[in-house]
Amino acid sequence: MPELLAPAGSMDAVRAAVQNGATAVYLGFGTFNARRGAKNFTADEMRQALSYCRLHGVKTNVTVNTLISDREIPALLRDVRLLLEAGADALIVQDLGAARCIWEHFPDAVLHASTQLTVHSLAGARAAKALGFSRVVLSRELPLEEIRYITAHAGVETEVFVHGALCMCYSGQCELSAVIGRRSGNRGMCAQPCRLPYGGKNRYPMSLKDLCLLPRLRALCEAGVSSLKIEGRMKRPEYVAIVTKIYAAVLNEGRAPTRDELDTLEKVFSRDGFTQGYLDDHIGPSMFGMRAPTPEKGLAPLYDAAARTFAEGQERPCAAVSFAFSAHEGAPVTLRADDSANTVTVTSGIPERAQKRETITEDIEKSLRKTGGTIFSVKQIDMQLDGGLRIAAKTVNDLRRQALAALEEMRTTVPPVRENTETVEIETLDTGFSGYTVQVRELEQLTDALAQLPVQTYYVPVHELAAHKARAAQLLARGCMLVPVLPRIIWDREQKQVLEQLEECKTIGCTAALCGTIGQIVPVRALGMQAFGDFGLNAFNSGALEVLRGMGVARQTLSFELRLPQVRDLHKPLETELIVCGRLPLMLTENCMIAGREGGCKRDGTGKCADGAYYLTDRRGAKFPVFREEHCRTSLYNSQPLYLEPDEYRQTGITYARLLFTDESPAQAARIARAVLAGETPDFGVQLTRGLYRRGVE
Ligand SMILES: [Zn+2]
Ligand SMILES: [Zn+2]
Repeated sequence: MPELLAPAGSMDAVRAAVQNGATAVYLGFGTFNARRGAKNFTADEMRQALSYCRLHGVKTNVTVNTLISDREIPALLRDVRLLLEAGADALIVQDLGAARCIWEHFPDAVLHASTQLTVHSLAGARAAKALGFSRVVLSRELPLEEIRYITAHAGVETEVFVHGALCMCYSGQCELSAVIGRRSGNRGMCAQPCRLPYGGKNRYPMSLKDLCLLPRLRALCEAGVSSLKIEGRMKRPEYVAIVTKIYAAVLNEGRAPTRDELDTLEKVFSRDGFTQGYLDDHIGPSMFGMRAPTPEKGLAPLYDAAARTFAEGQERPCAAVSFAFSAHEGAPVTLRADDSANTVTVTSGIPERAQKRETITEDIEKSLRKTGGTIFSVKQIDMQLDGGLRIAAKTVNDLRRQALAALEEMRTTVPPVRENTETVEIETLDTGFSGYTVQVRELEQLTDALAQLPVQTYYVPVHELAAHKARAAQLLARGCMLVPVLPRIIWDREQKQVLEQLEECKTIGCTAALCGTIGQIVPVRALGMQAFGDFGLNAFNSGALEVLRGMGVARQTLSFELRLPQVRDLHKPLETELIVCGRLPLMLTENCMIAGREGGCKRDGTGKCADGAYYLTDRRGAKFPVFREEHCRTSLYNSQPLYLEPDEYRQTGITYARLLFTDESPAQAARIARAVLAGETPDFGVQLTRGLYRRGVE
């Protein structure tokens, strides 16, 4: 049976989760967790929480799942040391550089790949495994069939979300909050701009209902997933208690949920009811919803009852203990206690002969069964008692207390943490600034005028190149380096088609491909092509660059959440690239942003979303282009195009600077590129931004 993993944002929530049947909890600590708004634990509270969980035999996963800058690494290591010494079972990590650094210092640390790593395919899970992760938290968007396939073949544990909020964007690929308000979702500061109206007061094209897979637990168990995760570290402990209790009951009893259970879940929090659309591969209007305006009305009795389940000192026994008691004439009285993980034997003095009433087994049993106030319940008592002895109740009570205290001690003891002090310096490959690259959405944008410019690389979507091979071959023959861009999301059912397109590109002379997520690097290299890493890999520090280099990436685009001084200070063990011009990508969604909310998306290119250009308008009137991608995924781009002056980035040690074209016409693209290459400010016809390179993110 998979573990039931409950969220805990406070000590109360930890008790709420444990007392209501969670077999694992996840908690946030310090600066480096994806819920920096949550009421976080102090060091002492964290030690207390981890110890409490160890005592109760509940696993603990601590989130360290934000992007981390080079300067923050020492603080990260301090946090990690504290967590490991306090007995955290695993850490949930997004940042590849953070993972490298943690393993370098603490070789035995167990790391789980956060959902922020956007693992959504077998190749992605295998890549995470090869790096050393023992578990991957899969993207919430996956249908059961994909989850089952990955779980069956990856050789690494899988964890899936079963309950709680759904973001519109694939986790790890959302830049909306960062770019429009400096509050980075990748740094635990998402301001949830996706919950706001766009294009009118009552239009919420990006607000999804909450997930509830309670009716589908059996299918997930059969799929072999290791962990079922409840979202909600920001939620109050009563919520954690109620949701955990219901999930634990349905899971443990292997039955369907009752109407009453589903109603209760809906009452404590939902957005117009729940959805299981992703798991059932049935997305569209039914997945969208807003939170009701007065959600907490009438919940007091429910919350009061829930609060009683985790009141301090209220312990529900959670561990079975077996006692073996023996008292023989002339030998010390002994009690052996066994909680199936640990065994302890305690002894007392030699028993006296009974003067009046002899002690009988019932007397001993009565004392041994007094385990109230501890976590133990008595499973079995094995009794060897000679007749004619007198053993005081106090003697037996003391033995019981000693034995149980010793067991508790053993349960909470943390084995020593192995630490490595030798670290490997990351080399810098001094490439010098080597020129510009250009990315287009459609091959049509790559006109002869644009192709004539001194551009080092042209990135074009793989399906565009495969669909227009003659034109692509012509450009290649002219000496243009064409690099196919892989879709950032490639489900396993889509993998074959993409690889075929990629092979066609290779046949006409392409030698490299641009990879957006970690699962794509190995398949590209297996085709004998060079792998370039795109922004979706969130390369935010030197360690991440080193990990990607080690995976075979030859050129890596840096996170555009970095500030320019950070870009400059990175150790760059491979060619690096920075996006310096164009609309930045903000979101990548499984649900169609164009026609998903209202209906009319057919997911095959014939629906209302079929003809390209579409804009979302926010409350201030800013217009964000939305594009339909392959399989009717949609991507959202910034309202303001980015432009950096060459002086700003040429001295930062990057190898290439990229111009990214999205909704620009072919003529406009050529004109803009010509201007940028000449060092002139390009005319996009709208106001420009410097992105986050100057301002940085929180
Ligand atoms: Zn969001
Ligand atoms: Zn669509």
